[in-house]
Amino acid sequence: MKMERCCLCNKEAILQQSHIVPSSVFKSVKAGEPQLYVFEENTNPVYRNVDPKEKLLCRDCEQFLSVNYEQYGTALTKNPKNVVKCKEHIEFRKFDYKKWYLYHLSILWRASISSLKVFSNIKLGEFDQILQQCIRANCLHLCGSLSLDDFITITMFRVIDKSSRIDDHAIKNIMLNPVRHGDNDDVLFFFMANGFLVQFRLNKNHIEQLRYKSERRTDLDRNMQRLVRKVDITESAFLVDNFNWLIEKMKS
Ligand SMILES: [Zn+2]
Repeated sequence: MKMERCCLCNKEAILQQSHIVPSSVFKSVKAGEPQLYVFEENTNPVYRNVDPKEKLLCRDCEQFLSVNYEQYGTALTKNPKNVVKCKEHIEFRKFDYKKWYLYHLSILWRASISSLKVFSNIKLGEFDQILQQCIRANCLHLCGSLSLDDFITITMFRVIDKSSRIDDHAIKNIMLNPVRHGDNDDVLFFFMANGFLVQFRLNKNHIEQLRYKSERRTDLDRNMQRLVRKVDITESAFLVDNFNWLIEKMKS
């Protein structure tokens, strides 16, 4: 077996076929269905099996991601006892911001370092290394008073269709691989699974401003992420484009 360098711990190891999106996410999105809808950049959504994999990590690091982030991240949205449903939002009763943040960040990071064509638009450049350090150290703290979430913010939405053209089961059966929107200085990435849309925002102008500002994200701000706003598919141009295709297809 060939020894290569693990992208997380940098040690020489036999690398695993690492999932870019955790396999537990695929399993839950499929929920017994043989296939799932997949939205990808610049192509129409397709109904098929995809599970992008690539040799990236050693066995120990796979295990590290699973135990520290993935088990928490996938269970969070699947446990009905932990979810309070309100009209305009849902709320997680128990919420661990750091696990939640690093779980989603690890998906974005894997997509960024991946050489697979489907993720060719997800390139974080010089930030890859910062993400790697934070994920490995299980810590958001950078230097001084800076935290990773001061310049990469993550926001989660629960996608709904108020017009009921798409039922909730179908929305949950949609998988959106990480995709990129926006220009270089203020870029958004989206990822969607199980009815939850996750938005990553990397604002480079904002990083410049942070130098001159002493105000930072507080733990109160962070804890507010336990509230997940419901977003109708018509509220976002990005969702409209993708969902319209799906609605047309369902009608035919
Ligand atoms: Zn490793």
